[in-house]
Amino acid sequence: MGSPAGDIEVLAEFISIYCGDVHPEVEKYEIHAGGTLGEYVNSLDIQLCAGCKKLLLHAASKRIVCPYDPKPSCKKCETHCYAPKYRNQIREVMRYSGKRLILKGKLNLIWKYIS
Ligand SMILES: [Zn+2]
Repeated sequence: MGSPAGDIEVLAEFISIYCGDVHPEVEKYEIHAGGTLGEYVNSLDIQLCAGCKKLLLHAASKRIVCPYDPKPSCKKCETHCYAPKYRNQIREVMRYSGKRLILKGKLNLIWKYIS
């Protein structure tokens, strides 16, 4: 379910909540990328620290090349496409921001990422 663009917006929202809360003192940057990745991320209206920006770009690039349609939950997927370092980071982000978003009733799109 979901298009890459919609999923990437959700990822961006998760990471931006996390970064804003957990890295408030760290300098933030706008998101820019070249090529296909840029088509998806350059319109996002968020700012992230350097580490979270890398995580978002990694996650977005993996989502764009995801071969599955409909996309399964990342937890159930047999292709563990994230690099281990980023997989751990995105889990932490999802856990943290997931709790925040539950309070806002915005869980409809996110379950497939929670692992
Ligand atoms: Zn951050």
